[in-house]
Amino acid sequence: MAAGPVGAGDSYGGFRARLVGELQAKGIRDLAVLRAVSQVPRHLFVPPSVRHRAYEDSALPIGGGQTISQPWVQARYLEVLQLTGREKVLEIGTGSGYQTALLALVADTVFSVERIQSLASEARTALEGAGVRNVTVLVGDGTLGWRPFAPYDAILVAAASPSVPAPLIEQLAPGGRLVIPIGDRDSQVLQLLQREGDRIVTTSLGDVRFVPLLGELGFRPSTS
Ligand code: SAH
Repeated sequence: MAAGPVGAGDSYGGFRARLVGELQAKGIRDLAVLRAVSQVPRHLFVPPSVRHRAYEDSALPIGGGQTISQPWVQARYLEVLQLTGREKVLEIGTGSGYQTALLALVADTVFSVERIQSLASEARTALEGAGVRNVTVLVGDGTLGWRPFAPYDAILVAAASPSVPAPLIEQLAPGGRLVIPIGDRDSQVLQLLQREGDRIVTTSLGDVRFVPLLGELGFRPSTS
């Protein structure tokens, strides 16, 4: 787990507590996840123009046509991964780095891949500012996973894909869990895949709407 993000003590603590209450009211039960939301300074991960909305339960623009997802969706993602604090996790789509920071508090080590260089650098700065250390942000095409550090106990894909890229399944450890939104560019179903021996068990978790996963095994960048 990360050593002390700047959670408690800053002037946004009250806003975070209210957001935690809202997430609980909307059904989030995992205490480690709620604790992470109460500690991570989301205002450091959004552009100054929308900072006053940082603790609303809504998606916000982060530049480059990308969005930071709604906190409820991010908390739900973490909840279904059932992390215990000991896992090595791969995240595809760093974006602002906010979800990466939440992951860092509920897992042991996080590798996060982002295709847009400028977002990756901004995310690194925000993560550092938040005191999060057990995270490595990498620039590349996450549809190929990130082989050097595989296998992963959990993989979280924060962008929508037409199908599950095979390398992600290959890089999942025994018993590992993968969450990914599958569908077309306009709407998707959040899917949980679990490796059980030689089998992959898939569960559908409801409708979601994410920006596209662009890459070799996702949507084609040229048509974006
Ligand atoms: N969870 C993020 C939001 C992610 S938005 C947050 O908390 O801010 C989805 C991100 O996926 C975008 O930043 C987009 O650039 C990135 N992305 C899209 N296709 C990708 C790919 N093939 N590899 C890595 N990142 C990708």
